[in-house]
Amino acid sequence: MRRSTLALLALLAGCGSADQRQAAQAAPQPPAGPASAAVAAAADLPPPDGPRLAFPLACRIGADCEVQNYYDRDDGPGVQDYRCGRRGYDGHDGIDIRVADRAAEARGVDVLAAAPGRVARLRDGVEDNGVKTAGQECGNGVVIDHGNGWETQYCHLKRGSVRVAVGQPVASGDPIAQVGYSGNTEFPHLHIGVRHNGRMLDPFAPGAMPLGTCTPQAPLWTPEAARQLAYKAGAILKVGVAGSAVTQEEIDDGRVAAPAAGAPVLAAYVRAIGLEAGDRLELTLRSPRGEVLATNVLPPLDRDKAQYFLMVGKRRPAQGWPAGAYQASARILRGEAVAAERAADTTL
Ligand SMILES: [Zn+2]
Repeated sequence: MRRSTLALLALLAGCGSADQRQAAQAAPQPPAGPASAAVAAAADLPPPDGPRLAFPLACRIGADCEVQNYYDRDDGPGVQDYRCGRRGYDGHDGIDIRVADRAAEARGVDVLAAAPGRVARLRDGVEDNGVKTAGQECGNGVVIDHGNGWETQYCHLKRGSVRVAVGQPVASGDPIAQVGYSGNTEFPHLHIGVRHNGRMLDPFAPGAMPLGTCTPQAPLWTPEAARQLAYKAGAILKVGVAGSAVTQEEIDDGRVAAPAAGAPVLAAYVRAIGLEAGDRLELTLRSPRGEVLATNVLPPLDRDKAQYFLMVGKRRPAQGWPAGAYQASARILRGEAVAAERAADTTL
């Protein structure tokens, strides 16, 4: 069941909606109630009437999707996520979960209701072209009302994929649409926002938190969702081996084919996200015997990079490629630590 004509009141903007977020934050807070003495302790607990949010996407973090941006807790021009990192951008009022590429989007990745409720508003019909239109930054979107003033909002949905109607009840985990590329977005992803009494909240830490302090709080996520969404200081969205030089665009489109046995070149590639200034991105191609065929470590980044692409390759030797599994492995090196790593094999 799908509404194609809709007209939607107040589907809030999605990514990049700093103005609307500030407006929402200026809204008066609900009264603290008589239990003010317990407020400090209560800040560590999820609000008692809040929904428990299931993971809202039919994908697995670390395998075919990653968190690209967290909620920005810094009301000023800076960025701070709930772990005092900078995995986000100024004014971001939700969580962005990014799928591997546009090919995955085309195949279809279901967006799932995070909690039981009723569809309050929706929009469909916005093209999947990543074009920002004033007032439609969310693109195609759905808002679910969970009662007690709680709402979740789902943005950048694929045109024509919304399969719920306004007023329809939904259960947690019900497919409501598919990931798309509509509205103000540079890559296919789900933006999920959580609102209580008109005010956007960080589902990882819904209570107050003075800037610069990142004391853990009980999240709104279910335990299973919280496990999937365990914080990553950086992530490798994709790593692989191609049979020719590839471009970032081809990677993001998902147009890279597995190499043929006679490929003139073997090229390892990586799409890394959430890099910080000072990080070094390392990429290595290894032979079936584990020999390093090519490797590259970038010099420390001069500034934060939300996403980065790197490739290293080797020409086919005169005798051809020995049969076996070739491995591309990538690491984000941060100081003495490895912030993220991932490897993938391809067999010739
Ligand atoms: Zn977003």
